[in-house]
Amino acid sequence: MDEAEKRIKEIEERIKKDEEGLNSLREEAGVSEDSECIFCKIVRGEVPADKIYESKNFLAFLDNNPKASGHTLIVPKQHYKDILDIPNSLASEMLDDIKKIGLNLINEGKGDGFNVAVNVGESSGQVVEHAHIHVIPRKQGDGLKAIA
Ligand code: 5GP
Ligand code: ZN
Repeated sequence: MDEAEKRIKEIEERIKKDEEGLNSLREEAGVSEDSECIFCKIVRGEVPADKIYESKNFLAFLDNNPKASGHTLIVPKQHYKDILDIPNSLASEMLDDIKKIGLNLINEGKGDGFNVAVNVGESSGQVVEHAHIHVIPRKQGDGLKAIA
């Protein structure tokens, strides 16, 4: 390893330490949102979104590249990378919100049913690294494919 490579490695290690330090400070302060995260920005109102519902710990808004009209995303207000990081204590509220959003889509005539989809990790199709649940209205013969 030459001098330049060594220096780069040192800098990378320092950045990693700084990031770890920052994360633990965030945790201590109870501030876990990520300043650059698009969904955190939506939660903070810094980026516009068609918000449709809000509970204590979750926000629901329309997907801006919908698979079907009414395609909704439910996101925790706190920044969690994917659903593996969402504490189980929020599970009941999350399920309640999924039911409310899904039933509301049916009542609005957007679908006769709906898919609930969660992507975890890049291979599954997760693009936004802030946990989210897709609620996609479905109608007989709409041409959409069900994953499962
Ligand atoms: P993923 O593939 O990560 O499970 O899904 C991310 C979803 O977020 C995609 O369906 C995409 O269309 C949606 N999305 C990405 N950026 C934005 C945004 O800035 N606003 C809204 N409303 N939806 C977004
Ligand atoms: Zn976030």
